[in-house]
Amino acid sequence: MKVDYLIVGAGATGMAFLDVILSETDATVAIVDRRDAPGGHWNDAYPFVRLHQSSCFYGVSSRDLGKNRVSETGYNAGMFELATKYEILHYYQNLMETEYLPSGRVHYFPMSEYLGDGKIRSLLSGEETDVEIGGKLVNAGIWGDITTIPLTHERNFRVDDDVTCIPPNDLPNTAPSFEQFTVIGAGKTAMDSVLWLLERGVDPDNISWVRSSEYWLFQRDNLLPHKEFFFGTMATTEKELESLATSNSVDEHCKNMESCGKWHRIDPDIWPTKFHAAVCSNAEITALRKIKNVIRAGRVLRIEKQRLVMEEGEIPTTGNALYVDCTASGGVALGADAPRVFDGDTINLLMVRMHQPLFSAALIAHMEACVQDEDFKQNSTKLTDFHDTPAQFLTNQLNAFLNQEAWNGNPEIKDWINKCRLNAAHHLLEGMTADDTNKIEVLGRLRPLTARAIANMPKFLGIEPA
Ligand SMILES: Cc1cc2nc3c(=O)[nH]c(=O)nc-3n(C[C@H](O)[C@H](O)[C@H](O)COP(=O)(O)OP(=O)(O)OC[C@H]3O[C@@H](n4cnc5c(N)ncnc54)[C@H](O)[C@@H]3O)c2cc1C
Repeated sequence: MKVDYLIVGAGATGMAFLDVILSETDATVAIVDRRDAPGGHWNDAYPFVRLHQSSCFYGVSSRDLGKNRVSETGYNAGMFELATKYEILHYYQNLMETEYLPSGRVHYFPMSEYLGDGKIRSLLSGEETDVEIGGKLVNAGIWGDITTIPLTHERNFRVDDDVTCIPPNDLPNTAPSFEQFTVIGAGKTAMDSVLWLLERGVDPDNISWVRSSEYWLFQRDNLLPHKEFFFGTMATTEKELESLATSNSVDEHCKNMESCGKWHRIDPDIWPTKFHAAVCSNAEITALRKIKNVIRAGRVLRIEKQRLVMEEGEIPTTGNALYVDCTASGGVALGADAPRVFDGDTINLLMVRMHQPLFSAALIAHMEACVQDEDFKQNSTKLTDFHDTPAQFLTNQLNAFLNQEAWNGNPEIKDWINKCRLNAAHHLLEGMTADDTNKIEVLGRLRPLTARAIANMPKFLGIEPA
């Protein structure tokens, strides 16, 4: 078989790339994935997972996800809808079946592995297919392969046989047999699990929470890329840029982020050292603070019936709790080993804008289809890596600013970005006209502020200026 592109990975990034290539070129594509259905890790996600951010800028460029509806119930009430796992999987399956395969230009290989050198092997029959790649190999599984998710990760602690410890995936089936719950992990999966238990009526005093670290979190209420929330969202963006332009240290910037309402934390008495960019609403934070039995003694080493053996001591237990393992890493920084996005005959789908992997994949596809200038492609696709700490986040945010400056300098790219539904700002600016003088005034202040931020950030991050 001969195709123009072979995409390895039918997760969200592979699909975002495929969608743009199909609509902007005449190319043929083979797309391969070990999983049985498109959507990547969402296939193995826990049943009560949702997007962290609004559905309006998730998915692929050519089709909306959801109805841009405001949620009326739950911890996200008053904010824009967050698709569930099932909506996301249906969306991708439906795209594949009703759009991509009928185009006659896509060959889809589910339950198959890419072995390299154009070889695809079925995980069931073992049958091998040789694919001649006329154009490029597209690596869409890089992050997926190094990150771990709750269902499939390998625990780094021991669990005695008479103890029940489950991934959050099993919570709805297993929880009814227990009255007490211990959630292990400090990240978004643990937060989701605690919130699920609370929403289903578990008394907060029956939940213990092992948190070996504290995280800064984005405050969803002030991070809403919708025209109705333009001034609120922009107010915190402006404060953020002012802080980046004037801060003398990472801690000073973190403090500013909290006081302007862009970030928050669960425990106001503990200074977080971590930042994975999870997003929580104020209502979620209020609920999470109801858990009073927070166990802070480092990481869990072993769960026994009557005690938790921790890095920093032993905690006696009642012996009848259900343990929920939420310790999968969720993300890993590629660091200095990261490949370039445009790397000869290979395209690596990496993030080129912070926390928007799908926008990044779509933009990379557009550049592949329409941009000939190799220098521009190299200079405007700096990696915005996964991060573990606020300092790492800021180092990557600087790269994101530099990419954005490069895109702004290219009228065709700028126009494409403004129209792309995967670009969060597209929804913020939707319907804006020359009469929206107040909005135009706010936007006018951002560009010079960004330039000052770019100049100041290397000073307090202790890195070379770009
Ligand atoms: C709980 C959660 C909520 C999130 N919410 C948001 C959000 O609101 N907004 C947002 O923008 N982002 C969000 N993200 C981040 C990001 O959008 C998603 O994680 C995204 O789905 C990642 O897609 P991916 O294609 O990079 O990776 P994956 O989903 O891991 O897909 C990669 C695929 O590649 C396949 N693969 C790899 N190597 C091979 C090989 N050799 N042969 C065959 N197949 C291979 C794998 O089987 C896998 O299915 C969220 C992430 C999580 C975990």
